Amino acid sequence: MTKYAKKILEIVEDSHSHMTAEQVFDALRQTYPKVVLATVYNNLNRLWEEERIRKISVEGMPDRYDRIKRHNHLVCKGCGKLLDVDLSDLTEQLQKQVGIPILAYDLKLVYLCDECKNKLQQKGT
Ligand SMILES: [Zn+2]
Ligand SMILES: [Zn+2]
Repeated sequence: MTKYAKKILEIVEDSHSHMTAEQVFDALRQTYPKVVLATVYNNLNRLWEEERIRKISVEGMPDRYDRIKRHNHLVCKGCGKLLDVDLSDLTEQLQKQVGIPILAYDLKLVYLCDECKNKLQQKGT
């Protein structure tokens, strides 16, 4: 693994804020000021292909990167903010319902965060 890949993996694993590639880039630049954004994209992609990190795609938002450890997400419908939630393992239940063995699942629970709720209320009055 290159020094960049190593550091990027470290940044993503330590972060609980679901960083975009640009945010990872900013963090990486603190250690390696000369790195370019393309390097970050390439390494993030490779790490994702190697299943060392997760990529979270939400429509209309840039992809965000996350540690691989199993957890699920609450996604704000308004601003796309992600929150981690720990749900019990549903693999067996889901497997029973579809009738075939599944390898993994990716649950996104959609909600409206307080900020967005407030904004909506202000608009309404
Ligand atoms: Zn929101
Ligand atoms: Zn997460």
